[in-house]
Amino acid sequence: MEENLKEKLMMKKEKGWLSVNDEEREKIFRFSDGYINYLNIAKTEREAVAHVRKVAEEHGYRDVNTVEKLEPGDKVYYINREKSVYLAIIGTEKMENGLHIIGSHIDSPRLDLKPTPLYEDTEFAYFKTHYYGGVKKYQWTTIPLSIHGVIVKPNGEKITVNIGEDESDPIFTITDLLPHLAQDQMKKTLAQGIEAENLNLLVGSIPYNDKDCSEKVKLNLLNILNQKYGITESDFQSSELELVPAFKARTLGFDWGMVAGYGQDDSACAYTSFTAMMELENVKNTAVCILSDKEEIGSMGNTGMESHVFDYFISELLNKTGENRPNLLDKVFCYSKMLSSDVDAGVDPIYAGVHDKTNNSFVGNGIAMAKYTGARGKSGASDANAEYVAWMRNMLETNNIKYQVAEMGKVDVGGGGTIAYILANKGVDVIDCGVPVLSMHSPYEVSSKFDIYEAYRTYKAFWQV
Ligand code: MN
Ligand code: MN
Repeated sequence: MEENLKEKLMMKKEKGWLSVNDEEREKIFRFSDGYINYLNIAKTEREAVAHVRKVAEEHGYRDVNTVEKLEPGDKVYYINREKSVYLAIIGTEKMENGLHIIGSHIDSPRLDLKPTPLYEDTEFAYFKTHYYGGVKKYQWTTIPLSIHGVIVKPNGEKITVNIGEDESDPIFTITDLLPHLAQDQMKKTLAQGIEAENLNLLVGSIPYNDKDCSEKVKLNLLNILNQKYGITESDFQSSELELVPAFKARTLGFDWGMVAGYGQDDSACAYTSFTAMMELENVKNTAVCILSDKEEIGSMGNTGMESHVFDYFISELLNKTGENRPNLLDKVFCYSKMLSSDVDAGVDPIYAGVHDKTNNSFVGNGIAMAKYTGARGKSGASDANAEYVAWMRNMLETNNIKYQVAEMGKVDVGGGGTIAYILANKGVDVIDCGVPVLSMHSPYEVSSKFDIYEAYRTYKAFWQV
């Protein structure tokens, strides 16, 4: 009797894996193989965009700029300066009855090269770096790093760089002090132990064979770079070169249940939403997938979500479906629904002290919805309406998707934010909804294959409502 009452009234806390049979587990593992492959081929925003363009075109998506007129079922994309992309399938409903938007980001914390990066010291050649996003600097020393990005010459010629990923490539690394001589360093705080100006990438050591010149190692390096890429030292000034971990994403655990890899914030949500969109055909509400840039540094700039480029994309859809009239864009946003699909901080039992176990998400327990983010007294939070959370719960329960409603960490321990508030400010109903991870923002983040699959199912179901 009492057991029945408990069953009826208490929230169930069953681990996600216990809710799937062997066949479903195989399906989850197969889906994760695709995810792991994506993590390895799309480590930067530009690589993600190139991949998305290719796959989207294979699935019948066309560049919206090349389309005159749009009808329900039409699939289009818009690429913003090779660093962010929006995709849409036109629904059978008018757009003014609301879009169903899922927005994630394809930039991840990393180290960028400074505009004049190359220098020589004591017959070593180095690249100076400037970190991008919230990194714990000590985590970026003594690991293999690869260099990704572009160098653009004044004549417009663009050179794509990707070195350190292939087994036959060299890799690069940032050195750290040996413990034997680190007495003073070890007394510093973790934040101060490795200084930003010491995050210098070791890139070479062989001097140019000319006894009359100085900076022989630097010169040898420039000579190699000139032969390989046709560049001179000045060309670094118009480059975007990003250092990311060179190691591969892998399955983690004897039971094969988890994924370890760089950039899961926010590839976990970008890959799952994009993959779901590629499987959609006809939708009622126009389905929109946002893959944004610059989230990790505040969403500013013309490729960040704060820019008006997204409004322009939606206006173009309205123009080309023939729906547009003055001020319609505002109405479209006010009637739209969105999932801000970004990762959440899963409870890490080793650091249990920062978590509220009754209100934080657990890795392996399904998709995590954060009603609000922000810090301290919900400062800067986009707080989803109870009505919208209820709508989401109904959608998830109807589709038998495992979910958890959570916030990040204990109150007053820290905080964070996503692109949620940007769309919410336009009038869209938005809730944060993504995959819980461990070691977020580190070179090797951890997620559960179960949650990756539930994220994919959530996004697909959201668009199919
Ligand atoms: Mn994120
Ligand atoms: Mn992040």
